[in-house]
Amino acid sequence: MIRIEAGAWAVMLEHAYSAYPRECCGILLGAENPGGERVVSAAFPCRNAYEGDQSDRFQIDPRDQVRANLKCRAEDIDIIGFFHSHPDCDAYFSATDLKNSWPWYSNIVLSIRQGAFAGAGSFRANDDQSQSETEELTYPSALPAPAADVAETAPGVESPS
Ligand SMILES: [Zn+2]
Repeated sequence: MIRIEAGAWAVMLEHAYSAYPRECCGILLGAENPGGERVVSAAFPCRNAYEGDQSDRFQIDPRDQVRANLKCRAEDIDIIGFFHSHPDCDAYFSATDLKNSWPWYSNIVLSIRQGAFAGAGSFRANDDQSQSETEELTYPSALPAPAADVAETAPGVESPS
């Protein structure tokens, strides 16, 4: 099973909202504890580098992968998976997703409908990427508002005290 901490969850949703109606993509950082539970403590938003229609495709910018690796090394955490969004589509693992995935890693898919969060799923591919399994996923129930609403009510930059 995999659990997403609040800070990481906020980053994932914010990234998905701002990319809509295109797909967003990013990297999940954290650790797998000895019991096999995965905890996502940070999410690393990446640029979608897919050259074409990004409404149903993504490709993580390799430069962002390098940056995520550096962050892991600095903070002694690991890359445990990847995330991307499905604009106006369900949170399922598509044939393309399976083909482009790596075994072991968790792949979280966020469904974004009409610009708002509409569900999430986590999937793991088997060793030859012929099949995927749904993984039990827990995420915070309190959802940050879509980016547009946040901008309206943002109190501005806080000065350090
Ligand atoms: Zn997908």
